Amino acid sequence: MNGNGAVGSDNVVGTPVRQVLLKIHSRCNLACDYCYVYQHVDQTWRNQPKVMSRPVVEMAAMRIAEHAQRHGLDLVTVIFHGGEPLLAGPDLLDHAARTIRAAVPASTTVDLRIQTNGVLLDEVFLELFGKHGIRVGISLDGPAAANDRHRVFAGGQGSHRLVARALRRLHQEHHRHLYGGILCTVNLENDPIEVYRSLLDFHPPRMDFLLPHGNWTTPPPGRRTDTTDAPYAEWLIRIFDEWYATRPQRTGIRLFESLVDLLLGGRSGSEVVGLSPSDLITVETDGAIEQGDALKTTEEGMAATGLHVASSTFDEAIAQPGVQARQSGLAGLAATCRSCPLVRICGGGLYAHRYRAANGFENPSVYCPDLTRLIRHIRVRLNAELSVLRVCEPG
Ligand code: SF4
Repeated sequence: MNGNGAVGSDNVVGTPVRQVLLKIHSRCNLACDYCYVYQHVDQTWRNQPKVMSRPVVEMAAMRIAEHAQRHGLDLVTVIFHGGEPLLAGPDLLDHAARTIRAAVPASTTVDLRIQTNGVLLDEVFLELFGKHGIRVGISLDGPAAANDRHRVFAGGQGSHRLVARALRRLHQEHHRHLYGGILCTVNLENDPIEVYRSLLDFHPPRMDFLLPHGNWTTPPPGRRTDTTDAPYAEWLIRIFDEWYATRPQRTGIRLFESLVDLLLGGRSGSEVVGLSPSDLITVETDGAIEQGDALKTTEEGMAATGLHVASSTFDEAIAQPGVQARQSGLAGLAATCRSCPLVRICGGGLYAHRYRAANGFENPSVYCPDLTRLIRHIRVRLNAELSVLRVCEPG
């Protein structure tokens, strides 16, 4: 293994997988109209079994263990995902957690997480998550009016009331250690400060803001590709300024923290910015090994590797050209990005956001103007603080 964790021996070339997204259930009890699994071009979910079978769970656990052993990983993160993973039920989640922990070598810590819409989160699940140390991330897009624009049941009823109940449960003292955070998808129709403050009301230890998936062929809502307007940056900057100015900070915000770290010479904690190679693999409900779900917003089958946990290792998956492209840092970017002064910070944005039907992924992010504006804004704020420090320097 070389210094940055990449492997270049035998027939394996690539960065080891450190995060495995396990799609334990392929359907959802909500019908959010922006969902990247059901509402975009890729409809392969229709061919998936509803729930992951126990043999597939066991094969996935075996692949995780084999990979951790082979690469000497001290930590592997496994995220139960879907669809809606709570639909899998407590018994299957219990079996999956036990099977993965039992399979992985004692020298590897397994960080188990679940990303849920929270609607079904009750005391039975929370007791189970407490038993296995499974941390819970919940998706919520703001106060009821904001969240319920898109995060609705099939009949059109909003989900906010039930999600709020789940967040209050997680905040209770005996469950608080399981509270991973809140994931919020940016919606330009909503007021950013109202959204941010409403999420803070649930006391999340962390939150993150996701840019809605889109690309040059199918742009995200409100992101015109013929202008340098930066509506997403303007939206995020309002939150950044409030978050950054509050001392002590009431929560961590992954996107902002990643950008601050990168601007100070560190590494990104997110695949969305920076040049760190992707280390995430998805195991579909039927056991197929896939790349990230975001690729499903580009073309049907784009996330597929053609591999299955029954017959292939994760090393075979990371050797695939599509995975390699997401691991090749600067070399994998379009010429415009390679010569961009912000490239070390921006990293060309999320891989799926670079897609254009005519030429694939050899483009800057469709969010290029937003990323540029946001990074420059944060840089100005950091510079202002650093210059105060310089003035205060003795002598
Ligand atoms: S997406 Fe835009 S800001 Fe980011 S590296 Fe490429 S050219 Fe630079």
